[in-house]
Amino acid sequence: MVDKVGDFMIQFNLFPGGVRRVVTFSYDDGSENDVRLVELFNKYGVKGSFHLNAGKYKDMGDEELDAIEKLYIGHEISCHTVNHGWLTRMPYATATRQVLEDRMILEKIAKYPVRGMSYPSGDYNEKVCEILSACGIEYSRTCKATMGATEIPENPLMWHPTCHHKDALPIAEKFMEDLDSQWRRPLLYIWGHAHELRTEDDWVYMEKLVSTLARSEKIWYATNIEIIDYMNALRMLHISADEKILQNPTGIDLWIELDKKENIKIPAGETVRLA
Ligand SMILES: [Zn+2]
Repeated sequence: MVDKVGDFMIQFNLFPGGVRRVVTFSYDDGSENDVRLVELFNKYGVKGSFHLNAGKYKDMGDEELDAIEKLYIGHEISCHTVNHGWLTRMPYATATRQVLEDRMILEKIAKYPVRGMSYPSGDYNEKVCEILSACGIEYSRTCKATMGATEIPENPLMWHPTCHHKDALPIAEKFMEDLDSQWRRPLLYIWGHAHELRTEDDWVYMEKLVSTLARSEKIWYATNIEIIDYMNALRMLHISADEKILQNPTGIDLWIELDKKENIKIPAGETVRLA
């Protein structure tokens, strides 16, 4: 006998660990200050994506490149074009080369496929998005602040951040107050440049911001690309028509919410049958 259908509802409301919130950081240009910023992120267990201009690294020797790789371990190395030009003001071939060569040089450093990006000067249009897509870029961050928590972007090639770090503290405090609400949006996405952290006061502020958001069991701390990979994996879940057989063909553990109350984990590569 087939169970009555229509009394089930699956929602993609949950992130790794079955939590409802995600916090991510995104830093551009690569600078000496990234060393201190990464230390701060590591101290508090948060994660960031570092969007780098490979023009700075192309003449470096192996030792220097190894140091760059080590600096960002545990975080994401991501593109920001080779020379930080305005992508909408370039011949398409130039823009393509700026992105693809950035990937190629950064991949020699990172030793993994580099698939993320942020737009230099926040400059993009639909044609630029097409170029990125053809170059194997899976998301790119703009500079258009939403000034509040958001959904995971529908079009990751136009990923609008919550805000710049200088504006983030009150928004972060509100985000933490609302952690138990089912009705709030899940993602807080803070961006900036480490080279803007010039004085000790700037670093005190940054530590206050990071510590405000840190170490909550209700938050998934992720790099930008980890969020994209998780959402893509959720969409690859095989679900039977009666929504009771859940097959996870991906290499990522997935969580779904059932009937707005039950959290179900579908481990990587496994099938879960609901009663
Ligand atoms: Zn930049």
